[in-house]
Amino acid sequence: MAHTGSSSEPAGTSCPGCGGQDVLTVQEAAGGPGLRRGALAARLARGPHKSRDGFLHAVEGLVLVVLTLAWARMGADQGKPLYVGGGLALAVLLLVGTAVVVRGDIRQRAAERAGAPRAAALWRPARYCRACSGVFCPGGTPWRGLLTPEQFKKLVWTEAGYADQLPPDDAARGVEVPPGTVGGP
Ligand SMILES: [Zn+2]
Repeated sequence: MAHTGSSSEPAGTSCPGCGGQDVLTVQEAAGGPGLRRGALAARLARGPHKSRDGFLHAVEGLVLVVLTLAWARMGADQGKPLYVGGGLALAVLLLVGTAVVVRGDIRQRAAERAGAPRAAALWRPARYCRACSGVFCPGGTPWRGLLTPEQFKKLVWTEAGYADQLPPDDAARGVEVPPGTVGGP
């Protein structure tokens, strides 16, 4: 058990790592003013938040399809069957490509939606210590120990089932969460 349980400290507000009292909820830490907000918010992010990618990708793909069809039409008007065939083939390829990308976006969004309650259950109670950058839960529930922001993010994304969506350059990808951080059911 990582909770130090010192009797002089008010329960739930002191850091088990350094004993400091300058402790915020991760929600405050990720969204609050006066902190390096962007960087810390990303380090403590609860999920990938990809909500608009699918729509943008669909629009981009369809614009390209329309342009390609216009090109084929121009070829037809000018009696150039090579343009027509090439344009139509390209349009089909673009449609298929767009469908694949959009399907991937939808799948990722669905995974995030499905994992959201689990992520919230682990994320919301967590506290961030400004002195040592440790992340912990008061009383050791629903998870135990003191994690770095990267380990915390890895824990939340893994438990929520979308750790595969951690960007390749995200430091959370390479860290290990200590075994036993999340207890049994
Ligand atoms: Zn601390």
